[in-house]
Amino acid sequence: MTTTLLTGIGLLATQDDEFGELTDAALLIDGDRIGWLGPAAGAPAAARAHDLAGRCVLPGFVDSHAHLLFAGDRAAEFAARMSGQPYTAGGIRSTVAATRAAPDALLRANLARLAGELHAAGVTTFECKSGYGLDTATELRSVRLAAEQTPEVTFLGAHVVPADTDRAEYLDLVCGEMLSSCAPHARWVDVFCERGAFDVDESRAVLRAGIAAGLLPRLHANQLTAGGGVQLAVELDAASADHCTHLTAADLDALAGSGTVATLLPLVEFSTRSPYPDARALLDAGATVALATDCNPGSGYSTSMPLAIALAVREMRMTPAEAVRAATVGGAAALRRDDIGRLAVGRRADLVVLDAPSYLHLAYRPGVPLIHQTWLGGVPV
Ligand SMILES: [Zn+2]
Repeated sequence: MTTTLLTGIGLLATQDDEFGELTDAALLIDGDRIGWLGPAAGAPAAARAHDLAGRCVLPGFVDSHAHLLFAGDRAAEFAARMSGQPYTAGGIRSTVAATRAAPDALLRANLARLAGELHAAGVTTFECKSGYGLDTATELRSVRLAAEQTPEVTFLGAHVVPADTDRAEYLDLVCGEMLSSCAPHARWVDVFCERGAFDVDESRAVLRAGIAAGLLPRLHANQLTAGGGVQLAVELDAASADHCTHLTAADLDALAGSGTVATLLPLVEFSTRSPYPDARALLDAGATVALATDCNPGSGYSTSMPLAIALAVREMRMTPAEAVRAATVGGAAALRRDDIGRLAVGRRADLVVLDAPSYLHLAYRPGVPLIHQTWLGGVPV
């Protein structure tokens, strides 16, 4: 197996409690794993060496929330929203029509393009949801195509009730034939628990059906209103409650005392011109926080994890270190993965090299392309 030694690492921010932050460091890649890391002076020999000339190295970002399987374009809806029209959950239906009509080749190419954007933004693991088919055939195509490019596939048949469809009949379909078709190709089940989408009892029924089919639960919760989504996520030990924009004190307590990660999606608040979630309150309460892109064609069409980090620092009062941790360790926790999100011996060699001496630059230089290289399983992409 080939070994590669990364030398000249100005700052190695491992996000691992044992290794912490090292200056003037080196890291040995052994196959797809990290074989060694530490001070450059003690580096072992390797088949190849690669000098990073003082750059900062981080774990690859883990994007635990993305909707990448779709066709169509909603730029006009964005422009209308910026002209003063409010964001609602209903615009999803226009993407559904385009996605149903799209051949597999088009959906596959669109996903590959977005995956390429994510890699260029330093993301080494991404989650991908279905939810723009809303019929069994298209939801099945969606999870199958997503599974070609990531192991973190989420069945989101309960995104909205499709147009001209009876609500109860649709829920029966989602929990019945659609779920049993999609479950073999997915790891997760998710519901858009929100005014205009699905209420708490409906969401609970879908998540329980998904759990019974062998899937793990996660939930869109408390994006537009402080409904009961977060409480439901905690009740079902969901890996993540996503959005958490409107939280009560009881929601903060519930998240802090649970294994459910609060996943914050500031690119959505940015793109919908909405108030940001209170990350400070979550962190101070002791909740585990993740940052993700929520890349989707409606409420936030960005693959830029660095911009999400910059917004978390500038708008949500996270420190740069907290924001980077949320984009790495936090994302891994939101996917219940312990092989990614931190750099330590034996973990996956998924890492990002910044064109900067420190990760502080991710927030200090917003909008600047600072990703020098992304390494995926020990290979630069
Ligand atoms: Zn979402």
